[in-house]
Amino acid sequence: MLITGASRGIGAATALLAAEHGYQVAVNYVSNDAAAKAVVQSIESVGGIAKTFKANVANNHEVVELFEAIDSTFGTLDVLVNNAGILETFSILDADPQAVHRTFEANVFSLYYCSREAVKRMSTANGGRGGVIINMSSAAAKLCSMPGGNAYSASKSAVDGFNLALANEVGELGIRVNAIRPGLIATDIQNGRGGLAVATELARTLVPMKRIGQPEEIAQAVIWLASDQASYVHGATLDVGGGR
Ligand code: NAP
Repeated sequence: MLITGASRGIGAATALLAAEHGYQVAVNYVSNDAAAKAVVQSIESVGGIAKTFKANVANNHEVVELFEAIDSTFGTLDVLVNNAGILETFSILDADPQAVHRTFEANVFSLYYCSREAVKRMSTANGGRGGVIINMSSAAAKLCSMPGGNAYSASKSAVDGFNLALANEVGELGIRVNAIRPGLIATDIQNGRGGLAVATELARTLVPMKRIGQPEEIAQAVIWLASDQASYVHGATLDVGGGR
């Protein structure tokens, strides 16, 4: 299983749970060597198999090299989790074109680059054995309620559209495609909107379950969608947001 952005947050929790479920895990990250190494060490310490793969998934060239490196290390790819993402907040009046580009490159273009490489390898029409792709969207795609979240919300709405289109395109190639829309989850990404304390307080008022979610609660949904228990779930978008 390749998980993009697996050094921290939801991706790291997914990597740990995936290893528990017997997956060999490719832990992708962009800059935080120490965090990625710590995830791999945790997996190895309980007898699992994982390896770090540093690559900026917003860069097509680096993605091609990433998949080649995974080919050499693990041979086949069964599951791609398009999880890496960034949050930058700004009002529409302050919208710096470069920040808008950064958001779409990391949150949307990366899905094209990684999914294309995955489909090449998984497609039964290409001699592959099928597979699963899971796209990390956000509650922001449908609620758009975050102050300054214009680019982020737009990028996550694009993820939802991409998810449906990709599902239509590759369903007959043995590849299941689904998305998850996490709500407010306790990870470093909250630094982009004032920090964890602000997000925790926000959750107490906004979320019907009156609490912030934990990355492990998203990881459980990823593992289910990746499994044969979800064998007829395709083109779906699963809300995991405490009712929000
Ligand atoms: P996080 O804690 O900030 O972690 C982000 C991860 O993505 C890190 O591992 C980071 O690597 C990696 N990353 C960022 N840009 C990358 C790039 N260009 N190439 C490769 N890796 C990259 O974020 P998170 O909260 O776990 O979010 C994971 C996903 O869930 C994102 O798509 C996010 O939009 C979505 N989501 C999160 C929430 C939430 O409340 N947390 C809610 C809805 C949706 P480094 O460690 O090397 O920087």
